[in-house]
Amino acid sequence: MPKKTIAATEVSGKRVLIRVDFNVPIEDGKITDDRRIASALPTIQSVISRGGRAILMSHLGRPEGEFQAEDSLAPAAKRLSELLGKPVAFPSQDCTDAAAAAAVANLKNGEVLLLENLRFHKGEKKGDAAFAAKLAAYGDVYVNDAFGTSHRPDASMVAVPQAMAGKPRVSGLLVEKEIKFLAEAIAKPAKPFVVVLGGAKVSDKMGCIEHLMPKADSILIGGAMAYTFLKALGRQVGDSRVEQDRIADAERILDLAASLKCDLLLPTDHVCGNQFIGSPSQTKVVEDDIPDGFMGLDIGMSTQGAFTAVLRKAKTIVWNGPMGVFEWSQFSQGTHQVAKAIAQATTNGALSIVGGGDTAAAVEKFGLADKMTHVSTGGGASLEMLEGKKFESVELLDNA
Ligand code: ADP
Ligand code: MG
Repeated sequence: MPKKTIAATEVSGKRVLIRVDFNVPIEDGKITDDRRIASALPTIQSVISRGGRAILMSHLGRPEGEFQAEDSLAPAAKRLSELLGKPVAFPSQDCTDAAAAAAVANLKNGEVLLLENLRFHKGEKKGDAAFAAKLAAYGDVYVNDAFGTSHRPDASMVAVPQAMAGKPRVSGLLVEKEIKFLAEAIAKPAKPFVVVLGGAKVSDKMGCIEHLMPKADSILIGGAMAYTFLKALGRQVGDSRVEQDRIADAERILDLAASLKCDLLLPTDHVCGNQFIGSPSQTKVVEDDIPDGFMGLDIGMSTQGAFTAVLRKAKTIVWNGPMGVFEWSQFSQGTHQVAKAIAQATTNGALSIVGGGDTAAAVEKFGLADKMTHVSTGGGASLEMLEGKKFESVELLDNA
């Protein structure tokens, strides 16, 4: 059931309490990636342009329930103000103290206020009702636009909207868009539907494989997780990363793929490094078996060719997990080529959905984010949505 959105909600003169996800990377007081702030702009604009009062709340980092200067949202308030081209009030060091409450009460139509880090209170992670009641008192309308946090039952995600029962509780435009792509678009995907999986661990992606495989025509597996599958097939994988306790799961997935007639492709050649990866690493391209002393750190050229050929024909593509250690240039080519192939398929009319924090970072690094239909702002949340999970923070919102 689609959820009511902020665009369909009366906001003029109302205090609109918006949970955003401003959990952005900060180094030396500077935001190094402001995508999450930029992604919240449509919702904020929608409220203030119609005369609503935007009261924003977010967490940042893991301050464990007490004030930590390095986890202050002050840099986010400053960046948001630059992006909006108007002042953003940032009243106090405590989201529930008298100064914060007074600033909320004094906010005028069309103005924006950001509360300090919710996680400076232990009640946020605990889902505490008394803490939630204080935040709930700030709003006439509740908006969930914190997609990156929407899989978590934190107070601001669940207890606050629960405490606001009877008032409008709606989804923000970012959350609406993420659900549209990560859940609705792949419920009945245009075929061929190709799922590309990679990254660090099979265990992280098991739920995603199981949920998507019944609908997928092809599954392309690269990254470290491929080695658990190759090991399950009895291949020599040298010192590549293998999850011994997942080999049985990998065997089960391979059998399931065969019975569902889903084409599951694994790497047939590998760019390997010796164990001393990082500093001068000896690299070596091998086909099939990887000798001891080497680990597979990227998919090789033939694999890239095979994956690209499948992607070229795809009409719907979901990609989660890099094909190799793309952070190091000598092992980034597989991820880059797959990203290019997906971008090309998208230009030719395919729908492409990219999820996962590192995968999104890779696509951004290659300058291809704009070429994809949708690059999710959620890391863990996007993966859980691709597993078909329902989020309480979304379920409790008003239906459209
Ligand atoms: P995402 O955040 O997109 O879900 P993951 O967190 O699952 O992706 O995996 C990303 C990490 O996997 C990257 O840091 C990358 O370096 C690592 N990785 C990819 N391929 C390999 C490999 N063959 N061996 C070791 N690590 C790998
Ligand atoms: Mg990751």
